[in-house]
Amino acid sequence: MTSRTLIDTIISAGWIIPGEPIGKVLEGYSIAINHGKIVDILVTDRCMKKYTATHLHDMPQHIIFPGLINMHGHSAMSIMRGIADDIPLQQWLENHIWPIEAQFVSEDFVTDGARLAIAEMLRSGTTFVNDMYFFPNKMAEVVHETGFQACIGLLVIDFPTAWAADADEYFEKALALADKYKNHPRIVTAFAPHAPYTVCDESLKRIATIAQEMDLMVHIHLHETQKEVDDSLSIHKMRPIERLEELGLIGPRLQAVHMTALSESDINMCKKNKVSIIHCPESNLKLGSGICPVSTLLRKNINVALGTDGAASNNDLDMLGEMRTAALLAKGMTKDPTNISAAQALHMATLAGARALGLETSKGSLKKHKDADIVAIKVSDIESEPMYNPISHLVYSANRSQVSDVWVQGKHLLNQRKLTTIDEKQVIANAKSWRSKINSI
Ligand SMILES: [Zn+2]
Repeated sequence: MTSRTLIDTIISAGWIIPGEPIGKVLEGYSIAINHGKIVDILVTDRCMKKYTATHLHDMPQHIIFPGLINMHGHSAMSIMRGIADDIPLQQWLENHIWPIEAQFVSEDFVTDGARLAIAEMLRSGTTFVNDMYFFPNKMAEVVHETGFQACIGLLVIDFPTAWAADADEYFEKALALADKYKNHPRIVTAFAPHAPYTVCDESLKRIATIAQEMDLMVHIHLHETQKEVDDSLSIHKMRPIERLEELGLIGPRLQAVHMTALSESDINMCKKNKVSIIHCPESNLKLGSGICPVSTLLRKNINVALGTDGAASNNDLDMLGEMRTAALLAKGMTKDPTNISAAQALHMATLAGARALGLETSKGSLKKHKDADIVAIKVSDIESEPMYNPISHLVYSANRSQVSDVWVQGKHLLNQRKLTTIDEKQVIANAKSWRSKINSI
């Protein structure tokens, strides 16, 4: 008898959707995990002959798929979930969000909001968030302590906030954070200028230079509404994307979020410069901002990833829901049901996100040598029967309450719907306490 290799974890699943190649499904396979990495994906019989594991998970009623990558979030804004609905973006920001932020945003607000958001994301199959908010130092601490993963946005905005008083302080704090986390196994950093209309030319130019020098991505809200484009044309005599090009920001490092108001030349500029576009369909729909022409972008082979935006404009952090909305919206928009298949929607929520982050060699699909960022969803209840195609189920019929288990770099952070690194009762109590404080004004 040959001896089996001892590894950390084996997950044997009814179905595995590896994510690469797009549309592939494996039936009766197992994933072997050691030291946070996938070491093998094999037919279950062969896996059991080759390996023995400390943790063995037999999941014949589950679909296993790559951890979802939420490519645009403001995690701490979860504290403001549902605080102001059914109004346009500028009114929503100027009359509601910004005044509440001015009064309440603090280290504690961000810590509690981040924990609430990460708990929600883990319970809906997300294993990585590309985040942008005040006190990114606190977000990073919560990511570190919970075992979650994030790209922490190094925020730059023209007005003074509790986080920083002026441009020099925003930059000083940004650089200190980038330095602090440069070798962290689960945290990366990116520059996060809020938007072209809230950041001046000088700061944007400075970001372009430093991002290049330090090899950092740049995460920005761009062309969120037609009004943003019109205002830029009247103030700067050019479209926001043209202004960013002049300032040296257009290139493969750029993660352009929203992009609802696009001309043909904007799209060509993104293609030529390998810009990644982050589609946030539910936030755009809810704020009536416009609709990103995803089908056109994908036809041009532009990398399009998916994000929820903050819970204050969505109002959830559910990437399964976001995939379904993205697929349905593209079909409705174009009157063509072939646009954005279920498998393409899953690709946008996984590997396309990893690519936009520059992390596609370690994340975004279930593949030998990649990180073991893995989600299990139970498909044995009435709502899931019968199942002809697991990818169709994942996008068009499943919902996040069916997510049972989540592993982040091999660590079991959601175990049969229980969070293992976050105190759920405390998270709920903190959220209620913030509601009381904000309601009392
Ligand atoms: Zn946003």
